[in-house]
Formats: sequence, C-alpha cells, structure tokens
Amino acid sequence: MIITKNPEEIELMRESALIVSKTLGMLAPHIKPGVTTLELDKMAEEFIRDHGAEPGFLGLYDFPNSLCMSPNAQVVHGVPNDKPMEEGDIISIDCGALKNGFYGDHAYTFEVGEVKPEVKELLDATKESLYVGIREFKAGNRVGDVGYAIQKYTEDRGYGVVRELVGHGLGATMHEDPEMPNYGKRGRGKKFIEGMVVAIEPMINLGTKRIKQLPDGWTILTADNKPSAHFEHNVALVDGKPQLLSTFDYIYDALGIESDEEDEFKAQVYGKEL
Ligand code: MG
Ligand code: MG
Repeated sequence: MIITKNPEEIELMRESALIVSKTLGMLAPHIKPGVTTLELDKMAEEFIRDHGAEPGFLGLYDFPNSLCMSPNAQVVHGVPNDKPMEEGDIISIDCGALKNGFYGDHAYTFEVGEVKPEVKELLDATKESLYVGIREFKAGNRVGDVGYAIQKYTEDRGYGVVRELVGHGLGATMHEDPEMPNYGKRGRGKKFIEGMVVAIEPMINLGTKRIKQLPDGWTILTADNKPSAHFEHNVALVDGKPQLLSTFDYIYDALGIESDEEDEFKAQVYGKEL
C-alpha cells in the first residue's frame, strides 16, 4: 500500500533528504586517491549525528556501517573497508539519514581523480537517466513509465540495466511501496498519487546487466566485473509534478563543478517561470 505524505510531512522528508545531500557534499572533497571508504564512513556518521539525525543505514537489516560504498564493479551495498582508493576508481556512495521519523536516502557516483572516458560516459548517462526517469513521475503516469524511460535511455546507449535491485517508496521506513524498477513497460504498474515520495535510483552497468553477490552477504557487483554507476534522488509528487527533495548542488559546490542540471530539470517540469 502506498503511504502518502501531507505537506508538513513532505517538508520533514525534505529536511532528512537535505542532510544526506549535505553529507555527500561534505565528503566530496575528501574523495581522492589514498582515502579509505572506512575513513569516509566515519566522517559521514559524525556529520549526520551533528545534524541531529541518525545514520539511516547503520543497523538497517543489520548493515554494519553508515554508508554503502560501492567502488568500480560494485553496484550497491558495498561495505566500507580500509583499502585505499586509487586514481581512476569510481565510487557509488549511498547515504541514509533518519530525522523527525522520516528517512532521506540518496546516492552519487564519484570519480577518484581522472577516470577513463568510457567510464565518465557511463556516469553521465546514468545521471541523465535519473532525470529522464524522474520527469515521468507525474500525475496520470504509472511505475512502468519511469522504468521504461530509464531503461530506454540507457539501453539505447548499450548499457546493462540491473533488474534485481530497484528504487522504492520512502517515508517512516526506508523501503515502502511501490517498488520502482529501472526497467518496465509504459502504462503498467501502480498509478502515481499526490503526496507519494519515492527514491528513484538507476543502477546501470557498462557491460552485462547480470550481477553477483560477494560472500559477505552484502556487496552486489557486476557479473563481468565491468564498472557500474548509481545515482539516486528523493522525489515527492506535489501538484501532480515531481519535486526534488534532495540535491547534488552541495557536491557541485564542494568540487567547483558548474552544473545547471537541477535548474534545467525544474524548467522542464514547471515551465519557464522558474
Ligand atoms: Mg540509497
Ligand atoms: Mg534507495
């Protein structure tokens, strides 16, 4: 059952989402060759607690850390460790925060130093597919419309779309109805309703869509060991349109990256008045 949120609850969810956004922004300048994922995890936990929130993933389904850190061929759910990151790596950082009884949950795949052009293209396409999908999260559409849009955009570019892991509704629990696959058929699945909040999160592979799991019981990686990218936003359906609760702007500010992707998205969704 989809649990809708009233405007006050959506504002609380925005607060939780923005704690995650700020956490990712805080981490961004530290993501360099030599740093370990465990060091970043400790920094994030402290930052989240300093902002009056609890780490959303720590202890969730018994996950041992505050961040899911998934480098290179790892898709999601990687466990932080003490292995230094290297030039040319990529790392998906997925972060959760719980405040006022509501979760924020979003993710960004960072470059460590200079990455190969084909990997950079994978990151750009995966991030673009996130916005392509979010634009379909609107009144009158269904779960399949978002999945179809993400799948079409990324498969047209030759990438593999992970099937086994999906986005989800978000609220007082981390995973609510509906599941939000990154593949699907137009017009199929549950209908979107005003006040629902979802985490949309394409997980896109450079090679095969197939995955495998490490014996740690957590880490998901690509079956062919080629890189995988993952970007996630939290989005509310307000006045029939998708409203971003999370932002990547803290990351861009920290890294000195000029990006108008979220302004462009808003202009497309709301028209020229913004
Ligand atoms: Mg996430
Ligand atoms: Mg999620």
